[in-house]
Amino acid sequence: MGEKYIGTKFKTIYKGDFKPNARELKLIKDLIKVGKDLAKLGCKDNNGGNFSVRTKNGIIIKTTGSFPHQLKKSDFSLVVGFKKDEVYTFGQKEPSSEARLHWGVYQARPDINCVLHSHDFLAVNCEQKIKDVIYVKEYSYGTMESARAIKNASKKGDYLIMQNHGVLALGKNISSSLKLIQKYHEKFKAITKGPTFNCRVKKR
Ligand SMILES: [Zn+2]
Repeated sequence: MGEKYIGTKFKTIYKGDFKPNARELKLIKDLIKVGKDLAKLGCKDNNGGNFSVRTKNGIIIKTTGSFPHQLKKSDFSLVVGFKKDEVYTFGQKEPSSEARLHWGVYQARPDINCVLHSHDFLAVNCEQKIKDVIYVKEYSYGTMESARAIKNASKKGDYLIMQNHGVLALGKNISSSLKLIQKYHEKFKAITKGPTFNCRVKKR
């Protein structure tokens, strides 16, 4: 299932250090907690998933190669834009391979300030479809093609399932995005009624 993780598919252009202010630090702390909360749902595969929040200056996003369930303050950078295959970033590390996808959602949805992407395989593998879920066909991760597809799909709803990959929850803030993932996880759990903690190891 899915595709092997081979790193980002864009070039990171470093614009300087990322020195979060007090408000940004609070957001980062909340995202670190999200990683732990999602791990409690069983979504704890290495490198799987990425989180972002919109700020005045750009989007704060998890860096690539850091595990969502054990994030540190230094595992976040500030993305301020992109052009084709270049992503402009403040910070020391490469932003998530899905940075362009996150950016596209914020462009398409001015009402959204937090995008959480998780490899909730319970939701992804469930054959029964749920109403209100936006299903998106499989794309090679981290490509412009996938970013464009998600940008368009994000106009239709707040909870998306990317075929053979993972889920995306769009909220006006961090807690509303997390609640969406938890809510649908419970729904899929009720449908499958089987063992719930079935997140296979898959890198992305
Ligand atoms: Zn993913």
